Formats: sequence, structure tokens, C-alpha cells
Amino acid sequence: MRLNQIPFLILLFFVFNCKTEPKQEPKTESVEAINQYITVLGTAQDAGYPQINCKKECCKAFYDGEVSKKLISCLGLVDKTTKQKWIFDATPDMTQQIQDLKADHLDNGKVIDGVFLTHAHIGHYTGLMYLGFEAMGATNIPVYAMPKMKSYLELNGPWSQLVSMQNIQLKRMKHDSVMTLNSNLKVTPFLVPHRDEYSETVGYKIEGKHKSALFIPDINKWDLWKKSIVEEVKLVDYAFIDATFFNDGEIPRPMADIPHPFIIETVKLFENESKETKAKIQFIHLNHTNPALMDTSVLKDSIEHLGFNFAKQSAVYDL
Ligand SMILES: [Zn+2]
Ligand SMILES: [Zn+2]
Ligand SMILES: [Zn+2]
Repeated sequence: MRLNQIPFLILLFFVFNCKTEPKQEPKTESVEAINQYITVLGTAQDAGYPQINCKKECCKAFYDGEVSKKLISCLGLVDKTTKQKWIFDATPDMTQQIQDLKADHLDNGKVIDGVFLTHAHIGHYTGLMYLGFEAMGATNIPVYAMPKMKSYLELNGPWSQLVSMQNIQLKRMKHDSVMTLNSNLKVTPFLVPHRDEYSETVGYKIEGKHKSALFIPDINKWDLWKKSIVEEVKLVDYAFIDATFFNDGEIPRPMADIPHPFIIETVKLFENESKETKAKIQFIHLNHTNPALMDTSVLKDSIEHLGFNFAKQSAVYDL
């Protein structure tokens, strides 16, 4: 720890009135040793990192070569036994993410066995364009969507062309309805409150034979959800959850117009929970302005010292 970090950490620990927890190391299990797992294919908010036309320190760090590019929030789901792979959200970085999944995890001769969409905001579905006529011209890629999301794609170009040309095959999902992918894996979408201009928004529960995960990349404040995030996290092994902003005042726009749970609010909500519960949290979907998106950051370190984790690009989470 550098000396100049200490005042920040003391302040943060005072604010949360919380004991420090040992830092959780990223998962290091060998991919060879496990057959069903989630891998993180991206961690940034919809517009990615660096963000277009950003002249602030956050993105300057990338152009100065100090920080690597961050791909947009996306999870891969892999079953090595059945040789199948899926992705959660079709991001503008999908070309790279599909390649990472193929090269680092599973080349089964298919682009993807299925795409699960959360909602119709740019970082979560526009990657579908790469499956279309001007791109690879895919054939009947299964795309799982909720009813409004499905209609939105069917009725609006250019997405409707993916449907009419049968590049994608839309599969209608139902709130809280379990989908059995194979004998090892189950996926359940559930509605969450969010800015639903074009579609509803869902999170997912992903269940393997031994472990399970939550994926909620976008949600308005936790207290607007019918369920308790604390109780839901206790029911799973990993929780990949919305960490768009670190704190209020982070961007020069009214932040009430773009509600998300701030990292410090989520940390506060879990302050009295066990070390095991806190360690399940894997913060994801970080805005370019979020200081915790940097590879090294005092504030990121301090949150990790409190026992929480950040989803790590390429890390593997066994199921
Ligand atoms: Zn988003
Ligand atoms: Zn920036
Ligand atoms: Zn969104």
C-alpha cells in the first residue's frame, strides 16, 4: 500500500464504520479443471472505456497508455461437457467478446449457442448487428428476449431485418420462468426496475449443479426492487451487480435522471453482512468516470479491503 493511500482509506473506513476484511484474490482455478462456468467478457458501462469524446482524466489515462481498454459488460456461460456456450447481452464489443470466448474457452464450430438479452439500452443489444446481412449473415442464432424486447426487435429496423432474414431466432422469455439449457445449466430471467423506454429490463439467475450466480448489470436504486438484494445475494455464490457509478456527483448531469445504486450505497447496505456474503459481490458495468474502473485505484482497493470484489475480465467462476 502506498503511503498516500492511507488518509483515503481511513476516511472510507470511518464513513462505513466497518472493519477491514482481507482482500479477496481473483479466481485462479484452472479452466481445464471445471466443466461449467461463467467467464467475464467485459466490465464497462454501455458506452465502454474510453468513452467517445471524453477529455477528462478518466479517459486521458487510456490515451496516455496507463490503462487498458475495457470491454462492455458481458458474461459468457460455458459448458465444456456438452460443448455449448452462451453470452449474456450483445454489446457493441461483441466481435471481440465472441473471439475471446472461442479462443480462450470453447471453439465448438458455432458463433454462439444463444444470446440472452437484458434490455434495449445501447450496451446490451446493439451487438446483434454483427450477426446481420452487412456483417456475418448468421443463421438462426437463438436470441432470448422478454416480450417487449422481442416486439421491439421485430418491429424496428435494422433489428427487424435480422428477424426477417432469419439471422436470429427470437425466443420469448417469461419473468421468473426457469429455462433448462441442458442437464447441467438453468437460466431464469426476472424483472428489475430500470428506465424502460423501449423494453422491460431483466436480471438473470444462472444455476449450475453446484453453484449459482446473479447478473443484474442495470437497475434503478435497490429499494425500488420488490426483492431484497441482500437476501438474493445470500441465495447465490456470485452476484454480478450494477456498479455504474461510485458516488453521487460523479458526472455533470442530474444523476436522479439516470438512477443506479452507487457503489458506496451497495457497500453500506451490506456493511453488517458476513465476510462470505460480501465476497459474493462482483461489481460490474462501471461508467468511464467510475474511479474503480481503473486497473489500480485507491478507492477500488478500499472497497476490496472491505471484502467486496470487482468482476475481472477473463476470470472464471465455476458452477
Ligand atoms: Zn447498461
Ligand atoms: Zn472518461
Ligand atoms: Zn440500461
